[in-house]
Amino acid sequence: MTETSLTPQVRSKPILKQELAFLFIHLLPLAALWTGASTFDWMLCFFLYLYRMFWVTGGYHRYFAHKSYKTSRWFQFVIAFMAETSAQKGVLWWAAHHRHHHRHSDTPQDPHSMKIYGFWYSHVGWIVGPDFKETDYKVIGDYAKYPELMWLNKHYLVPPTVLALVVMALGGWVNGGSILTMFTSDGFSSLFIGFFLSTVILYHGTFSINSIMHKFGKPRYETGEESKNNLLLALLTLGEGWHNNHHYYEVASRQGFFWWEIDITYYILRGLGAVGLIWDLKEVPRHIKDSKNKQHAQELKRQMERDRPTLVRNGSQKAVEEDVIGY
Ligand SMILES: [Zn+2]
Ligand SMILES: [Zn+2]
Repeated sequence: MTETSLTPQVRSKPILKQELAFLFIHLLPLAALWTGASTFDWMLCFFLYLYRMFWVTGGYHRYFAHKSYKTSRWFQFVIAFMAETSAQKGVLWWAAHHRHHHRHSDTPQDPHSMKIYGFWYSHVGWIVGPDFKETDYKVIGDYAKYPELMWLNKHYLVPPTVLALVVMALGGWVNGGSILTMFTSDGFSSLFIGFFLSTVILYHGTFSINSIMHKFGKPRYETGEESKNNLLLALLTLGEGWHNNHHYYEVASRQGFFWWEIDITYYILRGLGAVGLIWDLKEVPRHIKDSKNKQHAQELKRQMERDRPTLVRNGSQKAVEEDVIGY
């Protein structure tokens, strides 16, 4: 890589009046100081964080950005809608920027490289700055061909608004005893804590993958960039903390490559697969899993292919399959 290609790009500073909504979302949970908050509101906050984190990782990330499994057209729409309830913009916008991240990881073209642009820029600066507001449809043409996804990408405020209204209705029903109280403090306390607080925590949980996961933790594989594995982040983000594994073999539906690498998103995806909603989940080949880098992986693959006839002769067909397709 030449010196010029490592020169950071000039990235614009956020324009405050364009980011007032984002700022306001961070302050809204404080309004619960006036409405109070019930146990139900806190439970809703906890649930909606986990529920939407699953759709961020299993939807935006593993399906739309990486195509790590297949599904039907109607369920694809459900995945996109659910992912967008996280208020992290359109599904095509999200996945297109993420594809750029993998293509240019930790180089100046990376939208959010912590190594090049620092912690705050990689965490939130690139989101609030004006440089990455548009969707690059060229890199997401495989999904941009569906008109329903294009609609959802443009009207990305629809899913979170629907969810916010459902949350208020639930708050009215549970806190006030009737859905008719959804526009009183009974519904608003659920909105501030159940919806907005969980949305803010979800933002920073997701953003931490772009910032912290390219700095703190251990790399298992030599990937040529700064991605790391981190158990704590993997638990908080339902599996995304195995980020070095993911950068090494990004098409896999699982990011925890070994049984002890807890990856809750993957377990849920397997559940969706078991009931037939999704299929063809991509696994991690043995030679990838057991290698140190891509060159080593090729050596292992050749070795496994050489050993294959011996294993078959010895009657270990199962061992052969595990070596070649294994997970
Ligand atoms: Zn990354
Ligand atoms: Zn990725």
